[in-house]
This record gives sequence, C-alpha cells and structure tokens, in this order.
Amino acid sequence: MMAILAIFGPVAAAADVTVYVTSDGGTLTFAAQSVATSLFKKAGVTIEWRGPKPQASGVRADWLWIELGEKTPPDRLPGALAVSYPYAGTSKRITVFTDRIRSMVNRPDQESFLLAYVLVHEITHVIQGVERHSGEGIMKAQWSNLDRANIFTRKLYFAEDDLIMIRNGLARTLTRPSESENGPRPE
Ligand SMILES: [Zn+2]
Repeated sequence: MMAILAIFGPVAAAADVTVYVTSDGGTLTFAAQSVATSLFKKAGVTIEWRGPKPQASGVRADWLWIELGEKTPPDRLPGALAVSYPYAGTSKRITVFTDRIRSMVNRPDQESFLLAYVLVHEITHVIQGVERHSGEGIMKAQWSNLDRANIFTRKLYFAEDDLIMIRNGLARTLTRPSESENGPRPE
C-alpha cells in the first residue's frame, strides 16, 4: 500500500480590494504604496496593486481604477487633493491630483506619505460606500496641520467608527450595482 503525501502550499487568498493604478503624469512611488498597504493591513484590508502597465488579461469590472493626474486645472474642485466616485457601480474610480499633493509638501518622502494617505482616504470611501466624513483621523474631510504632521510620521490612523464601517463595507461586494448615481465629491 502506498502512502501518498500531497503537500500543498498555502493558497493565496484573493485580496479584498484590487486597485488598478493608471497614470496621467503622476507616479505611485514604492514608499506611497507600502505605506498605504500597511495602513490597510492594520485595518484588516488586503490590497492588490496593479498597473500602470496595461494588463494582458484585461481589467476586471470589480477593480478600482485610480488615475494619478498632473496639471490639474485650477477650477477643478479647488482645494481637493483627489476625488472618488464611491457610488459609480461597476466603474468605481478615483482621481488623485498629484500636482496639488506635491505643492503641499517640502520633501519627496513627505509627498509619498501624503499620497499614501490620500489614496487610503479615497479607497476607504469606496469600501465604505457611503458619503461620510469623520471628526477624527484618516477620514476627516480636511486634515489640519497637526494631522499632516501625523501623516508625515505615519501616526494618523482611522477612527474606530471607520474601522467598523470598513468591516461592514467589506462584507458587501464592491461590485454591487450602484443604488444611486451621485456626482463627483471632492476629497
Ligand atoms: Zn473624503
């Protein structure tokens, strides 16, 4: 009698959110991606990053499109660092105004950290699927100077309510057809 040993490696679980990053001039630095990934990991969210190269297998409808734009027209959502379309059904997407992020920092490392937090803020809007901001933390409508200092030291984090809403959001599918089509909403 033969004993057959089947040894399986761990099966890689699908990420909670797959983002497809495209560039209209802006760049997702490795530092920004790492910081965003670790913030989400701490919140129990796994992220898979794809792009900016075209995907040979195509882009799936449930991927979240993120465009990193430069040369943002001054009259486009003045003061906003990004815009998300959390109710846009199968075409959920985010546009980040990387030139405005750069204008708010003094150093490249700060630029990467601020970009990471802007990405996490906007992706969280899509995960939560509701139009809402928090009084504290990453999901504040507008970060104060103190918040920004905490971003540059990577101390800013989610409020407890946001962590609950992220868990609830993940329990729903991100591909659910939109219930309402809202217009663009600034950062
Ligand atoms: Zn927001």
